[in-house]
Amino acid sequence: MAWKISLNEARCTGCRICEMICSWSDEGGFDPSRSLITVESIDEKDAHFSIRFDPGCKNCGLCATYCASKALVKEKEQRDG
Ligand code: SF4
Ligand code: SF4
Repeated sequence: MAWKISLNEARCTGCRICEMICSWSDEGGFDPSRSLITVESIDEKDAHFSIRFDPGCKNCGLCATYCASKALVKEKEQRDG
């Protein structure tokens, strides 16, 4: 199942759970460097973050499922074709 995922970067707390769960689901281990989503601090106080999906993202929606702050939200299922 593939999902359209909406971003609300203003809600992101920088917890990086999304990176952890993505790497675990795709690579079988908790390694943010292998995640298909990247969260980066955009200010010196680590108060604001940018969120970027790798082109290889499978739109599985798992990162959004585990994003407690709803910076990532599953909007609707995507259908092939
Ligand atoms: S997008 Fe959600 S899960 Fe990922 S770092 Fe931000 S708050 Fe945490
Ligand atoms: S939707 Fe993309 S970034 Fe999120 S867990 Fe799935 S593959 Fe990783």
